[in-house]
Amino acid sequence: MSSKPLPILPGTTLGILGGGQLGRMFTIAARTMGYKVMVLDPDFASPAGKMADVHLQADYTDHGALRQLGAACAAVTTEFENVPAASLIELANHCRVSPGAASVAIAQDRSHEKTWLREHGFATAPFALVASEADLDAALAATGAPALLKVSRFGYDGKGQARVGTLEEARAAFREFGGQPCVLEGFVQLELEVSVVLARSDAGECALFPVAENRHDNGILDISIVPARVPDSLSQQAREMARAVADKLGYVGVMAVEFFVADGRLMINEIAPRPHNSGHYTLDACVTNQFEQQVRALCGLPLGDTRLLSPVAMVNILGDRWHDGGPHWDALLAHDNIKLHLYGKEAARPGRKMGHFNVLDANLPAALALAEKMRAVL
Ligand code: AMP
Repeated sequence: MSSKPLPILPGTTLGILGGGQLGRMFTIAARTMGYKVMVLDPDFASPAGKMADVHLQADYTDHGALRQLGAACAAVTTEFENVPAASLIELANHCRVSPGAASVAIAQDRSHEKTWLREHGFATAPFALVASEADLDAALAATGAPALLKVSRFGYDGKGQARVGTLEEARAAFREFGGQPCVLEGFVQLELEVSVVLARSDAGECALFPVAENRHDNGILDISIVPARVPDSLSQQAREMARAVADKLGYVGVMAVEFFVADGRLMINEIAPRPHNSGHYTLDACVTNQFEQQVRALCGLPLGDTRLLSPVAMVNILGDRWHDGGPHWDALLAHDNIKLHLYGKEAARPGRKMGHFNVLDANLPAALALAEKMRAVL
């Protein structure tokens, strides 16, 4: 690896693999701080590509493009877990890369992730690995019914998941997914879902953002409420578990840990090796937002202050709202305590994340009430 001394300072070029909304918000943060940004994304209409100094329009496995990125950038990060680990390894021959390929490889494969969590003593929902149809019987016996069959790779926002009650249903779902490796997970009676976004430096220093309480709709994050309305002891435990995951991974960069709360206990659902949708509240409600923190961790700068400046409710805006003359931006922007973020995506499709808004109010129930009202009005 080329050895640009740390910290990497403004004026330098940073790279990012993936040009979706997370890459766009990273690009905005980096450029605000005076860095140049090069985005690698095959999509010519990439939301981050439009904001970057340079958009390399090529595949994530394109050796020429990876060489070009590595030569131009002092450091490269990623905005999504499905980037091939081999590409990160290749890039690491040219420049600093964070997070490292090993962490991404664990988080991008549900079977590896769940196995790693169990081996390291973290509580999860009961699960069993399913490599072939023959495994389903024993898997269902291990998890109990009902259960969720989830594809190991490339599932997101509830896609690649099926609820199954019987062996027959599990077989049908497994075939529907093309017989690819899956995880069967016992269905948990959720009281609540929470998440923790954190950053970890090369030196192992951790900065944790406040715990978010997350509500999902159809498997997609709908609203995050911060601070989470859970006992302090549970918040503290979630933060400690998230920190322990980052430490055991030897993680460098920003990551998120999503939890289920059931019977007052925490179970880890997923690890995201990148900033997270449930951390978008930090854009307006924290001293440092998760994307500036990503820049700081990538560049080997001291991590920023994660203090919450105001209670906040974050609402996702999905493509479903682009009908009947909507979305009604006028109604939303009439409020002086609502901050709108749109991602510059051209095509609005149902379920597609087009933007979000943050409602800030010293009174959390008031923030949530306005968030819910605006969600309905939009
Ligand atoms: P995932 O993509 O695995 O994060 O799942 C998306 C959402 O589906 C989660 O945020 C939960 O709301 C729900 N879900 C996933 N797994 C389970 C489970 N084992 N039991 C109950 N609900 C689940």
